[in-house]
Amino acid sequence: MGNKKIKKDQLKALFGELAKNNVLLTPSKSKGFVGFAPWDGDSADFPEWYRNTTIPPKAMFFPPVEEMLRFKKGEEGYEVEELLPGEGTQVVFGIRPCDARALKIIDILFSDTYKDPYYLKRRENAILVGLGCKEPCDTCFCTSIDVSPGESQDVDLFCTEMDDELLIEAVSEKGEELLSKISGLSDAGDEEKSKAKQLGESAKEKITGRIETAELQEKMRSNFENKEYWEGVSRKCMSCGICTYVCPTCHCFDICDENNKKDGKRVRNWDSCKFPLFTRMPMENPRHEKWRRIRQRYHHKFEYYPMNFDAIACTGCGRCIRECPVNVDIREIIGGI
Ligand code: SF4
Ligand code: SF4
Repeated sequence: MGNKKIKKDQLKALFGELAKNNVLLTPSKSKGFVGFAPWDGDSADFPEWYRNTTIPPKAMFFPPVEEMLRFKKGEEGYEVEELLPGEGTQVVFGIRPCDARALKIIDILFSDTYKDPYYLKRRENAILVGLGCKEPCDTCFCTSIDVSPGESQDVDLFCTEMDDELLIEAVSEKGEELLSKISGLSDAGDEEKSKAKQLGESAKEKITGRIETAELQEKMRSNFENKEYWEGVSRKCMSCGICTYVCPTCHCFDICDENNKKDGKRVRNWDSCKFPLFTRMPMENPRHEKWRRIRQRYHHKFEYYPMNFDAIACTGCGRCIRECPVNVDIREIIGGI
């Protein structure tokens, strides 16, 4: 199937059609934050105001708080009810290329030795519709990590905004199948494709932030014991954990049982290596000093994850820079090593 296009003023009709048979999630503003939320049945203007979400898309697949199971004491012992996600397709419309890559990066972990049925079920049921960036933020550095603002192979469909139209390209078979079912689209040809390419190149040129990843693992190993360096770059950090919560690839969690004697539930919550109380079980957090916790976060992303899974656990989305209350900048920390 060839590429398709749609006028932006027809997006509401397109969303209405997608929402008939799927749960449609689009960028939405709530309480000062932007995140993906079920489509409200009306708004279709987010391409005009949205650059990226504050809450990373991982939250749709690995929620901040998740009830995993419930248990009840019966005559014969405990009865357990597992609360796996249900069936039904979720169409995520408007995911940026950096965030689609982030999901590919954490897919590796959640499907490794311990397969996570909660995350994997939601991923299996999702269709990702990417949206290229026109105006990257000044904190973005995705191009340093092999992500391009104007294209993505990590989605099912990819859209590029072109004046009053959206070009829609099928990337995967799942995307192609969905595209074939949508009505009201016009055919797009080579002219639109080459225009989309130009727009992608121009978005790339707007990204000026960079980090150097060549030989970074070796440099990090040599710098590991440099206490003075890590103490210096950690000084202003308040251990609030915001950088890890907004990061689309950070995936630490804690699991607790909330037990009311006769019944209870098992809950999984996002956790953060920035917290002094992180990993207190089975003994205690071995990283008492803040600089050790900061060092852990950067080494995990740029040394351990590549060593274990052959992928850097950062996509250059820049959220941790934008949201840090004291302006800690990952580009400066990695650049200083
Ligand atoms: S957001 Fe900033 S202050 Fe908070 S833990 Fe991260 S680096 Fe530290
Ligand atoms: S470490 Fe920062 S720039 Fe990298 S993916 Fe996480 S939030 Fe984005």
